[in-house]
Amino acid sequence: MDTEKLSSKIAMNEIVNVNTPDFDIDPEKCLGVYDTDPCTIVIMGATGDLTVRKLIPALFNLYLNKGLPKRLQIVGCGRTELDDQQFRKKMENALMALDGKNRSKWLLFKDTIHYFSVDYDNLDSFIDLAEFLKNLDQKHKTQGNRIFYLALPPSLYQTVAQTIGQTGLAHENVNNNGWARIVIEKPFGRDLKTAVHLDQGLRKFFQEHQIFRIDHYLAKETVQNILMFRFANAIFEPIWNRRYIDHITITATETLGVEHRAGYYEQAGVIRDMFQNHMMQLLALTAMEPTSRFEANQVRDEKIKIFRSLRPFPVENLHDYLILGQYGAGTIDGNPVPAYRDEPNVNAKSLTPTFATMKAFIDNWRWQNVPFVLTSGKRLAQKRTEIAIQFKEVPHSIFRQTLGEAIVANRLILGIYPEEKVTLTFQTKQPGAKVCLRPVTMNFYYNQNYSGPILDAYEKVLIDCMLGDQTLFWRQDSVERSWAFLTPVLEECEDCHNREEMLHIYDAGSWGSNFSNIK
Ligand code: NDP
Repeated sequence: MDTEKLSSKIAMNEIVNVNTPDFDIDPEKCLGVYDTDPCTIVIMGATGDLTVRKLIPALFNLYLNKGLPKRLQIVGCGRTELDDQQFRKKMENALMALDGKNRSKWLLFKDTIHYFSVDYDNLDSFIDLAEFLKNLDQKHKTQGNRIFYLALPPSLYQTVAQTIGQTGLAHENVNNNGWARIVIEKPFGRDLKTAVHLDQGLRKFFQEHQIFRIDHYLAKETVQNILMFRFANAIFEPIWNRRYIDHITITATETLGVEHRAGYYEQAGVIRDMFQNHMMQLLALTAMEPTSRFEANQVRDEKIKIFRSLRPFPVENLHDYLILGQYGAGTIDGNPVPAYRDEPNVNAKSLTPTFATMKAFIDNWRWQNVPFVLTSGKRLAQKRTEIAIQFKEVPHSIFRQTLGEAIVANRLILGIYPEEKVTLTFQTKQPGAKVCLRPVTMNFYYNQNYSGPILDAYEKVLIDCMLGDQTLFWRQDSVERSWAFLTPVLEECEDCHNREEMLHIYDAGSWGSNFSNIK
């Protein structure tokens, strides 16, 4: 193409792009026709809540959207004695209203699901499982590729991973193309020591590239969008630093209480449940440096640098940096709800925090002295997840004499829930003869101009496991650095003499704001 034609093409594009963004994107590429290997997904703990509510619906949805490999088998395992038909019926019930079209698809899909009862402490039962899987591989040509998904209480991760390993099922057969992957759900330990111990147990039989530590938050489209937003637009990166940003708030609140998970939550509390994983990941995505390519280990290398740069928490001065709360009785959506201590299976004198606000700093060039305020809690006024970038005020206001007031600084919000959106607030002139400012908000809704399917977080996680793409999964070094930051905080909170005083009781359905006075 000669230069004249080229310049006229550029000019045309410029004109076209003013009003109608010309998305030169292959839709197939984005919707995902995944090049996944044939495989068998073995779910341990398949009679449980996670399998019924999340995993099987996600797999079935992927099947409906042609997201699964053609040769896929699913094996549910558990102590409960069930046959294939009973297990399939249980899963079918969980999918609830299967209408005509989906029902006929389910009848085809359900034949890929099997059940095998196991005894986790008994090696022989796993030897039988290995034989069963081998036969299944041969019959369905799944090439010996296997994902072991531990949908089990975390206390069983080590035992089960080791039993899988002892039967040779963790062994990867490079020549025959047979891979073996293990998936575990948070929590990854309950402090630094136990996280290291868990990893040592897993690493006896599995290598790091075989271990998929899930944080399903990371698989949400809008969470991934943080990196696209930051690194696919030239205009934000130059101002994404201490010179222009005053502080950043990361919020993940919910209206739900502890529900049926009191046994786990009583031992965990909000810091282990939310901060050690989801909040730290949102922090890392917001603060990390760009990678040279969007590739699993490069992304994870940049995240670990953020965790390494976290300023050690000033435990001697805890009150200025951390506020803990626990919900009392209150009202949610007009309905009375009990206090945390009155929930089933919760200790009537429990000191477990259900709310925390924490101020953290990242000691590096970009973020020196910019506070990152992280807030998460249960039974609050609204379910909301967002990252708010609060910019600094203008250095000097030329309107001060006329307006006699400070100008409200710009604010950028990356909304994840309830609305997946990006909003930017800035000042404009109020129409009229007088010089008057008014803040306005520019909104982008994530689903805008898009009508295709959006992958549920578990669907994305399962696809990435099948593809062997670890970008969205925790690497052990990050798990450890994150625990290294939080363990001293937990120790200080749990061992201190004034533990009860530290815990503010807030009304369910409020924002807990009567005591939350950090920034
Ligand atoms: P469940 O408590 O429902 O347990 C899953 C299965 O594990 C049970 O059906 C049971 O199967 C088996 N099991 C339970 N206790 C024991 C035990 N003491 N010894 C041996 N087997 C046992 O767990 P979930 O399905 O809720 O969660 C699984 C994992 O996923 C957990 O690590 C959880 O933290 C994590 N997770 C769960 C989420 C959810 O929404 N449920 C969300 C995020 C993470 P059987 O008796 O048939 O052997």
